[in-house]
Amino acid sequence: MGYLKIHCHNCKGKFEIHREDIENKEKVRCPHCMALMNGKQWDKLVNAFFTIEEVNKGLRTCHTEHGEPLMQAEYKTHYVPQKRYCVDE
Ligand SMILES: [Zn+2]
Repeated sequence: MGYLKIHCHNCKGKFEIHREDIENKEKVRCPHCMALMNGKQWDKLVNAFFTIEEVNKGLRTCHTEHGEPLMQAEYKTHYVPQKRYCVDE
């Protein structure tokens, strides 16, 4: 079962949001500094979470019912400020 781990760059804190809260929360605040996440982006994040959950469930079914190699997807990110990107163009 998946969960979300949020990094709050306002206070440098981290917090987790588990499935029951993902289903029920209409808005998300950092529990450390009380910063509020944008509601429209929270809705998109909830959709993305459940899409990944569905894919992982499908991949488990492919493994258990069809003997395919088991694979599970995990998304992680590392924030890099735009001015810090070192890309040759
Ligand atoms: Zn915070």
